[in-house]
Amino acid sequence: MSVTNVTQSGGGAAEESRTESRTNVGELELSELETLLRTLGAAPFHARQIYRWVYRRGVTNFEAMTDLSRALRSRLSATCYVSTPDLVRTEQSVDGTTKFLLRLADGRDIESVYIPDTPAQTFCVSTQVGCAMRCAFCLTGKMGLTRHLTAGEIAGQVRRLAGELGMFARAFNIVLMGMGEPLHNYDQTMKGLRMLATTQGLAVPARRVTLSTVGIVPAIERLASEPLMPNLAISLHATTEEQRDALVPLNQRYSLASLVEACKRIPLRRRSRITFEYVLLEGVNDTPADARRLGTLVGGLKAKVNLLPLNEGPGIPFSRPSDERVDAFARALAARGLTVSVRKSRGRDIRAACGQLIVEGQRQSPGQRLAILMDRGQDQG
Ligand code: SAH
Repeated sequence: MSVTNVTQSGGGAAEESRTESRTNVGELELSELETLLRTLGAAPFHARQIYRWVYRRGVTNFEAMTDLSRALRSRLSATCYVSTPDLVRTEQSVDGTTKFLLRLADGRDIESVYIPDTPAQTFCVSTQVGCAMRCAFCLTGKMGLTRHLTAGEIAGQVRRLAGELGMFARAFNIVLMGMGEPLHNYDQTMKGLRMLATTQGLAVPARRVTLSTVGIVPAIERLASEPLMPNLAISLHATTEEQRDALVPLNQRYSLASLVEACKRIPLRRRSRITFEYVLLEGVNDTPADARRLGTLVGGLKAKVNLLPLNEGPGIPFSRPSDERVDAFARALAARGLTVSVRKSRGRDIRAACGQLIVEGQRQSPGQRLAILMDRGQDQG
């Protein structure tokens, strides 16, 4: 692996936080930017030009937006700015996965991961600093929730990665599988996705986005009414209420039965399926009986199963099953006619794999607050 430290030359998120009397255009979706332009006495179509600069070329300095009039450029510079998460450090894995440590305007750090060729190019992004869900096997959960990300921070991660990787003009997928529970931060997550889907910008369509959720049932139901409904991955992890209560505490509020019922009611695009993620914990949920029950639970749905052999970590009281056990579990599901994949962990040498998102230390010094998590594997379903 290799680590590259980046020295910021100013003008990034941390600096912009000192200028908060101006409007952060990085938080505005196209219609909001049109409204803002009207209040500045300018024509709303300039919003599309600004979106092109910011999302397609990574230009956030209004003075450099040369297709806007000088007068409008100075008015924008005086009243607005565009905040983008600062790049602190990248770490590259031997398998090509790159982990980005990003700093937000308030000094909090998050991680985003670039996973090449799986077979598509994929950006794995965070929706919260930390997570409130406390799943028993997840390191991010151990950290608790520090705060939600804003829509601009969610979209800003993608802008930062596209810029650093020279990918503004290339197609890529987005998986909301970084730090946090996206449906616990519903409005900002959906707004961030609308910003990323804007055709004058990065134009990432909903079918290229996968939202992974622990199973907040009312929010899943609400998703069904979204004009831009992403692909859905459900973190199932267990096949009985008792077992899921222990592994995924949220099950005590939204039961496995109600979650599966909600999945049955979700309208799916043609040929699309719900992915059920299932972390394999040795001797806990990886027996032949578990495979049978899992087959029965999701067998009636347009579903595929993605098995995630546990990525072990400090303080995680479970072990990863042997490859033979994982294989036997996968075969048992396939024998029942299910489509199964086993997530091959990417980036484990740089702790960029699922559940390896580690709080690197709770350094409270102003410049270096807490860090990270991250999590990712291959095959986003
Ligand atoms: N909050 C969302 C996104 C989490 S990350 C969710 O719960 O779906 C994506 C996947 O990684 C989830 O299925 C999560 O349960 C899983 N995961 C968490 N810790 C893991 C670990 N240590 N090993 C393997 N997978 C893990």
